[in-house]
Amino acid sequence: MYTVIKTIKISASHYLDLKYKSKCCNLHGHNYIIKVFCRSESLNEDGMVCDCSKIKNAVVEAFDHRELNKLIPQPTMEKIAKYVFDLSGDKCFKVEVTETENNKAVYEK
Ligand SMILES: [Zn+2]
Repeated sequence: MYTVIKTIKISASHYLDLKYKSKCCNLHGHNYIIKVFCRSESLNEDGMVCDCSKIKNAVVEAFDHRELNKLIPQPTMEKIAKYVFDLSGDKCFKVEVTETENNKAVYEK
């Protein structure tokens, strides 16, 4: 089994609608680090699991320098991970979203 891991860095803003008082309710920004994990038992005709640049371009186009609330309702890092997973094609089995050095979410198939 082959695995490739693509790291994508984006800057984006969001706010959360929470039932408790939190500074996360104010519009603010993060420098997200997104890791997309893809695997396959065989390689394509280019000798790759998949074309990671296509995934990167799709993620950057969707998220970079955007207000995430306009794209995803209640854009928590968990929901961002699922959104990226859905963008990343059938070879993707896991997405990690790092929001801050202490906060990371993972969505796995
Ligand atoms: Zn935040």
